[in-house]
Amino acid sequence: MEYDIIIGMEVHAQLKTKSKMFCRCSNDGENQPPNTTICEVCTAQPGALPVPNKKAIEWTVLTGLALNCKIAGFTKFDRKNYFYPDLPKGYQISQYDLPISYDGFLQVGEEKIKIIRIHLEEDTGKLFHPKGKNYSLVDYNRSGTPLMELVTAPDIKSAREAKEFCQGYQKILRYLDVSDADMEKGQMRCEANISIQEKGKWKKVNDEILPIGDYKLNPKTELKNINSFRAMERAVDYEIKRQKKFLEEGGRLRQETRGWDEAKQKTYHQREKESAHDYRYFPEPDIPSLDLTKIKNKMEKELPELPNEKLKRFVKEYFFNKIDAELLVANKDMADYTEKIVSELRAWLNALPEVEGDQDEIWEKNGKKIAKLISGWLLTRLGALLKANNINIKEIKITAENFAEFLTLIYQNKINNTSAQKIFEIMFKEGKDPSDILDEGDFEQISDTNILDKAIAKAIQENQKAVNEYKAGKVNAIQFLVGQVMKETKGKADAQSVRKILEEKIS
Ligand SMILES: [Zn+2]
Repeated sequence: MEYDIIIGMEVHAQLKTKSKMFCRCSNDGENQPPNTTICEVCTAQPGALPVPNKKAIEWTVLTGLALNCKIAGFTKFDRKNYFYPDLPKGYQISQYDLPISYDGFLQVGEEKIKIIRIHLEEDTGKLFHPKGKNYSLVDYNRSGTPLMELVTAPDIKSAREAKEFCQGYQKILRYLDVSDADMEKGQMRCEANISIQEKGKWKKVNDEILPIGDYKLNPKTELKNINSFRAMERAVDYEIKRQKKFLEEGGRLRQETRGWDEAKQKTYHQREKESAHDYRYFPEPDIPSLDLTKIKNKMEKELPELPNEKLKRFVKEYFFNKIDAELLVANKDMADYTEKIVSELRAWLNALPEVEGDQDEIWEKNGKKIAKLISGWLLTRLGALLKANNINIKEIKITAENFAEFLTLIYQNKINNTSAQKIFEIMFKEGKDPSDILDEGDFEQISDTNILDKAIAKAIQENQKAVNEYKAGKVNAIQFLVGQVMKETKGKADAQSVRKILEEKIS
């Protein structure tokens, strides 16, 4: 049997506001001792009244705008009733029929994944079940943390696309600086609703999956407990295979919530899925409805450049190839750093005496070469040093100006690759100016042809065996001779020119 895969996502993201959603408690409770960032509101004492956090509302509008959503003219909060010990009020303040943002999309590769809604609600407390004890503990520090819930249409067609959607959303949340969106810390929680349907037996109408003729739709599974993008792809893949196998063996799927077991790499049954009806939603009587017009106008002005636009600009204006640009843009801090380097480097290049013409022309002519130089050092060499030292780009000691000066030295052939590696490491460790390191050390590339000629002559004279081998057609033998010259010049010669001269002399 041929099946279509139908996936919709629900993503919860904790907003990193200073205070909680409906009270003034610190929103940093998850890093504090249990039950120390709580008050009468977030623990639901009788008579306590909620006051909505303006910043959280602004950020939900901002996120909506970033995802091409419409913004509600006015909005309200609703009570979602259910009983669980981590929910002190016995209901969660959420939004039912008037979400803050709705009807947008996120571009994932060639596809536009529709965003049905983004609404605001509050997070719950946390339960702990001490091993071997007959009681549980509850920590209300997280209770009342602003939580933004995004719901997509069932537009996603594979595990990979589900993963890429979540990655794209995370990037946007980080660009907007509204959430750290770390999946492992539970700051971003992705749930996938997955069903498979026989090909040609269903249709999508107003984002709903409907049967054609007397076909009976297979129910969907809601998949939870996903702590990383990798787990997301594997869990969804596993679930699709499980459903197919189940149907092929003649089973009937049920609507259920399943968890992902990372250790066993399997999904497992958690519970039957409640329908919306069970929550008995009704308007929150303690919070008046809100007019969002002013906030929307304000946020439209604050919307920053988003990852997809930045990517296009990096390719068009800075001449990066698409793969490099994607890597540079993936992290906003790296993108900002790159941008500063480019701007400084333009100034450096323009100031070079030997460069004639204005910098626009230089970039037009050498743009790709210069871009490759920048991305090579940023992604490969700096990337390796950041990883080895376990620090992030924000903490590095190399200023953008020094980085640009360093690249200028390479561009001018003042230092060769060996010296560049050494200088770069000193810059990374000490944050020094590259020209100071160059003055103090002994790095400048040998351009004096006398010294170079001597070293080359010596290498030829002392290594006749290699010379003869090269003459006899063993091309690799030249590499050995280049090595001897580099040794003689303490690595300060330009290996490529040495090779060229050697080839001319002994052929
Ligand atoms: Zn509180």
